[in-house]
Amino acid sequence: MRIAMIGTGYVGLVSGACFSEFGNDVVCVDKDEVKISRLDRGEIPIFEPGLDDLVANNVRAGRLTFTTDLTSAVRDADAVFIAVGTPTRRGDGHADLSYVYGAAKEIAEAMDGYTVVVTKSTVPVGTGREVERIIREARPDVEFDVCSNPEFLREGAAITDFMRPDRVVIGTESERAQEAMREIYRPLYLIETPIVFTSLQTSELIKYAANTFLATKITFINEIADLCEQVGADVHDVSRGIGLDGRIGRKFLHPGPGYGGSCFPKDTLALVKTAQDYKAPLRIVETVVDINDKRKKQMADKVIQACGGSVSGKTVAVLGLTFKPNTDDMRDSPSLDIIPALQAAGATVKAYDPEGMKEARQMLPDVEMCDNAYAPIDGADVVVLITEWNEFRALDLKRVKGLLKEPLMVDLRNVYNPEDMAEAGFTYVCVGRSTVDAKVSA
Ligand code: NAD
Repeated sequence: MRIAMIGTGYVGLVSGACFSEFGNDVVCVDKDEVKISRLDRGEIPIFEPGLDDLVANNVRAGRLTFTTDLTSAVRDADAVFIAVGTPTRRGDGHADLSYVYGAAKEIAEAMDGYTVVVTKSTVPVGTGREVERIIREARPDVEFDVCSNPEFLREGAAITDFMRPDRVVIGTESERAQEAMREIYRPLYLIETPIVFTSLQTSELIKYAANTFLATKITFINEIADLCEQVGADVHDVSRGIGLDGRIGRKFLHPGPGYGGSCFPKDTLALVKTAQDYKAPLRIVETVVDINDKRKKQMADKVIQACGGSVSGKTVAVLGLTFKPNTDDMRDSPSLDIIPALQAAGATVKAYDPEGMKEARQMLPDVEMCDNAYAPIDGADVVVLITEWNEFRALDLKRVKGLLKEPLMVDLRNVYNPEDMAEAGFTYVCVGRSTVDAKVSA
């Protein structure tokens, strides 16, 4: 199949590369000329493990190309995927669909012969119908079908998620479009991946229901963690104790500084707005959004409390800025709320992140970005671990202790074991487990 992927960001580039790996001919389109010329030079504009090799192999095989010319890409395509951004619309919290509708108009003008137009972007219920209307209005002469195919990949594990998904969801009422989608996903059929065929509306809602359910699970365990701290229980044992129940499951039961990233915050909010519009409010999700917003400030307060009630005049060393490890994505990362709150309370913040600092420099201009994990700690009053990159899991604790003014660590991801930290001579504050004070050797 010949595919045009409109939007070559985190989802478009990974999906395009994976579809070409499946044997399809893929042209990835983007408006961003810098991005496309970097890709043409063999550079990958985002950090995603394994993506460089996947792209290089498929470019070499002649199945994957890049262009800014949407018209020629669409004209030759059997299927056109829309993978542009759907950020939060300024002012009201709804999803901003201007990129999707803009792409739909451009696609309509370029289509030549029967085309399946697929929304891969996360879009609210009703968007597919509107895309259909836009195209029909612009091109009453052309045969086409609109189909919803939401993407469930996680940044940091995107290729495995795409190649071995738990399921593929395809929303369309057209047999012809179903056939085309079956052909595109043929290798996944062969490994018996469940393919869920639904209506357009149902498919659109499945994506939001999945993301808000996961965000709810995270928020639930974060609140249980707060309770654990009050009653002297250990949230890790609670997570294990409930997660081993097959009806609950162990995933997404890790407490932390609140969910962030390019999807959960905007998708939870957008679903709340859709539900309100349809007079079927989702009060659980409304509460989740509210709790998660407040949690970031609560985490800054946790650091302040750990520092004796004030960070004024103190230096805070932050390890990890991205919303999770193995990505350079800074969108809606908890660090973007926690760090300014600490600065507002009078702290000087120095930070290190393996991949996120290029982006973070623009978003956190008053933070001193350092070259390695130990540099921000040198002379700091406290080290705060915000993102659980692997390289922070095995810090040389003796060295860390020697560099800090006081051996104090606030670990918002529970990377370390409290007992080990006490042995190593740290006062260690974590999430949902009791704070331990450094063991004084006899
Ligand atoms: P992104 O911002 O990384 O990429 C979007 C790209 O689209 C940009 O490069 C932009 O220049 C391009 N673009 C916009 N309008 C265009 C047009 N008319 N023609 C050509 N290019 C155009 O966004 P993303 O993170 O890849 O997300 C895309 C969609 O996928 C969103 O709806 C998001 O919610 C959803 N999604 C994202 C993830 C994720 O982990 N990032 C996972 C699942 C679903």
